[in-house]
Amino acid sequence: MSGRVLVVDDIEANVRLLEAKLSSEYFDVLTASDGYAALQIADAELPDVILLDVMMPRMDGFEVCRRLKANRQTADIPVVMVTALSDVASRLRGLEAGADDFLTKPVNDIALFARVRSLVRLKRMMEELRVREDICHQLGGPGAPAPETEGPARILIIDDDEFAVARMSETLSPRGTVRHASNCAEAWSMIASDIDLVIASLSIQGSDALRFVSQCRANEASRQLPILLISEDRDLPRLAKGLDLGANDYVTRPVDRNELQARTMTQILRKRLQDRLQESYQRCIELALTDPLTGLYDRAYLDRHLDELIKRVNQDGISAAVLMFDIDHFKRVNDTHGHDAGDDVLRELAVRALNSVRTVDLVARQGGEEFVVVMPETDLAIAAAVAERLRAAVAREPFAIKADGQNIPITISVGVTSAAAGGDNREKMLKRADIALYMAKNQGRNRVVVRSPDGPPRAVA
Ligand code: GH3
Ligand code: MG
Ligand code: MG
Repeated sequence: MSGRVLVVDDIEANVRLLEAKLSSEYFDVLTASDGYAALQIADAELPDVILLDVMMPRMDGFEVCRRLKANRQTADIPVVMVTALSDVASRLRGLEAGADDFLTKPVNDIALFARVRSLVRLKRMMEELRVREDICHQLGGPGAPAPETEGPARILIIDDDEFAVARMSETLSPRGTVRHASNCAEAWSMIASDIDLVIASLSIQGSDALRFVSQCRANEASRQLPILLISEDRDLPRLAKGLDLGANDYVTRPVDRNELQARTMTQILRKRLQDRLQESYQRCIELALTDPLTGLYDRAYLDRHLDELIKRVNQDGISAAVLMFDIDHFKRVNDTHGHDAGDDVLRELAVRALNSVRTVDLVARQGGEEFVVVMPETDLAIAAAVAERLRAAVAREPFAIKADGQNIPITISVGVTSAAAGGDNREKMLKRADIALYMAKNQGRNRVVVRSPDGPPRAVA
């Protein structure tokens, strides 16, 4: 993963040094030699991370940071303050100014790459979530609520050094509930419960923290769980490995209380924001993109999904097909058995349709009693066979009506088409399926008609 980093320092040699290091790890580097230039470049180029020197003439790093965070355009860009080694007061001022992290001079490579990578990764993830959220918003779903900053965090410490655990627990207990595991196997069994942050020692006897990190990242449920490593100075190569495997940050022993607290809180705040965005995204999908009666995807989602698929057809040459189907004489069902009975039929039809297709196929309710199935990597012959299977699955067994306990026969008519190789679009594709469906109705219903992108329509059954 590479990213674009803006390096800001008034001393030319410092800029060149960081530029060389970052370039050697394939980051794209932008540079600025004072605060005004930094603000201008940040605003115009929107880098992924900004490394900001504190001591600069005219405008110092704190002021630059404050202005970056006050500007909507640049507020989300992570800022790393670069301070003198022992300058604890500057670190605190930096955090107050909104800095996301700090590095000390002379800058150590592991720390530099760990912090920059972790922040680039985080920024990418937030961008992704925001894009999805924007789509939801455009489709009429709710926006994201403000990030939750209240409430105790749930922290899990993995360490076999009782004294270190006691010290860390004491430091962190005002921030949340701290649980403890003395080896990785025990910790793994606790991950299932809600944990906001894992703090893992690299020096546990008989237990491999690196394996634990990679296990967490390979597992869907713990993929986003923040992990903070505790490392001995002599363990730096293993620390670098742990960060490569996906640990988010680290502190070295002896653990500085303020630093542990600050890094813990940063990870937890991010986790919370991430959870909230994820949650609102899910809710949004449910509210805006699915049909409440059948639980199938709705028209708006179908349109987007099909557009994306056709893009892949046109770019990568994959095949794709759609089925459009509609209940035969559905009006009679409503007229004879009532509207609720009609609803029962629609729900049962959704279930039969889902059972007749693969999981990668999308079943959507286009409107009323009309449905569409989108099938990636499927040619016309296969699509016709799926359509016939679906038609038969509907016609074979009558539908049970809850309201009056009756079973009524239902049939559907289906139109099928595939994407034209090398240049199709949603409107044309749905139009062809619609024409095929119309012909199936005209030919007597309870049948499938196939229309190839470049040939005449033909009946299948
Ligand atoms: P055809 O075979 O030509 O498709 O005839 P049809 O009666 O199925 O078609 P028509 O378009 O005349 O009528 C569709 C009916 O579907 C009319 C409408 O009231 C009913 N309908 C649409 N949405 C719903 C729904 O959500 N629930 C119920 N119960 N009925 C619905
Ligand atoms: Mg109908
Ligand atoms: Mg109709």
